[in-house]
Amino acid sequence: MAGKKAVVIFGATGDLAQKMLYPSLYFLDAEGHLPEGLTVTGFARTDIGEADFIAHTHAAVVERAGKAFTEEAWKKFSARLHYCKGDLDSEKDFRALAKTLDGADDCLYYLSTSPNFFGKIARNLKATGLAHPGARVAVEKPIGHDLASCRRIEEDLSEAFSEDRIFRVDHYLGKETVQNLIALRFANAFFEPLWNKESIEHVQITVAETIGVERRWSYYDSYGALRDVVQNHLLQLLCLVAMEPPASLDPDVVRDEKVKVLHSLRRIGSDEVERETVRGQYRKGFSDEGTVPGYCEETGGAASETETFVAVAAHIDNWRWAGVPFYLRTGKRMPIRSTEIVVQFRQVPHSIFPHHDLIANRLTIRLQPEEEISLQLMNKTPSLDRGGMRLKPLSLDLSLSDAFKRQRRRIAYERLFLEALEGNRILFVRRDEVEAAWKWIDAIIGGWKERDMKPLPYTAGTWGPSSAFALTERNGHSWYE
Ligand code: NAP
Repeated sequence: MAGKKAVVIFGATGDLAQKMLYPSLYFLDAEGHLPEGLTVTGFARTDIGEADFIAHTHAAVVERAGKAFTEEAWKKFSARLHYCKGDLDSEKDFRALAKTLDGADDCLYYLSTSPNFFGKIARNLKATGLAHPGARVAVEKPIGHDLASCRRIEEDLSEAFSEDRIFRVDHYLGKETVQNLIALRFANAFFEPLWNKESIEHVQITVAETIGVERRWSYYDSYGALRDVVQNHLLQLLCLVAMEPPASLDPDVVRDEKVKVLHSLRRIGSDEVERETVRGQYRKGFSDEGTVPGYCEETGGAASETETFVAVAAHIDNWRWAGVPFYLRTGKRMPIRSTEIVVQFRQVPHSIFPHHDLIANRLTIRLQPEEEISLQLMNKTPSLDRGGMRLKPLSLDLSLSDAFKRQRRRIAYERLFLEALEGNRILFVRRDEVEAAWKWIDAIIGGWKERDMKPLPYTAGTWGPSSAFALTERNGHSWYE
């Protein structure tokens, strides 16, 4: 049937699909963004009938949507849902999927499975005629485990789909504040002249989670914090902060600028890892939940040398950023949940306030828990100023939830789905970006191996091993917490 549209979610019973993907599609549908007639088919091995799968998904959507849930919107959305029980290894099961799709010629396949399956899924889609010219594929991060495995997956994907039909997801790129970073930098005149080594002393990017690895232990243990978060989310944020102004918002123009940043990252290999990186692994400690076990004692855990914390002092060797460290840090079982970018400006060149330690300006772009932007400035404290002017650092705050009170905070995947359905690639990562990121990460991992650099212990509920503090302090800087 001509013009029939379908979304297929591979890994439909999994954590990501149930917590994020189905709720995102529900919201898009509730707001009238999904095309008439679009079907959403889940594919996984779990042996449940379609009605039970829909009931299971209903519970997940109710939980995620909270007060925004309405039965009316669900009724409309659930009419789109189908379930196809199948194994990703089985070509026969892909043929059954093709039958369920009933000749749909405009399809988005979302691969929400372990990356080990990406190549296999692409081959099966191709073998069963599902990778037709009207088909697109969205793949979750991480693509592979290192550059070599990434290239193997990419080869399989490109055998089935042309580059303009491959949508590599890094859900951070769907977040409102990350989008806003582009607006902030390029829709305001006063940042650009200051956005360089003359005015900026250093940049910090932190992704801190209070949770442990929980039931993802076996997946996580083969990846670790560097591959799981730095290779994708942290490097994407670094690129958006550091890239040159693109000439337009054309997806390839923006991605050209991002990839140039990745190529300018100074290699950190065996001679540099001990100086420029810190690895940590949490031990028993505390969180909001009370006493929590160490990484190796988590359910499904075992003795392990995988890092759950990593800090890196990255350097971008180009004219704009020479000599400006970009400190990247991510960890599990940190004291607070927070994702933020801190741009630390330089101190004024000469102070006319002899009795004050001036605090240099700082721009903070917060992605989590709230989406906020704040600029710290020195201000005069209101007073008669007998004995000299009194100063205090105060911040200019822009809270997106306050500024746009009636707007629901969207799930990042809503925007990503919409863009992928419409074939717009700006929020997705290009193959050369992923490969450049893996090349940089592989050098660090190779360096750790050569130096036998094992993760240092840290107590759950703290900011990682003490050497993470030394990483910044040796340059006279300190982490903002
Ligand atoms: P998960 O909970 O382990 O789910 C994996 C899914 O794959 C399940 O639906 C499972 O269903 C299905 N599956 C596994 N083997 C299969 C097979 N042989 N045939 C058919 N289906 C199979 O994983 P996840 O946490 O949702 O993560 C999915 C992907 O998203 C991963 O690449 C992950 O790195 C990425 N990701 C996840 C998150 C997150 O918050 N969870 C965030 C960012 C990225 P059955 O057991 O029913 O077959």
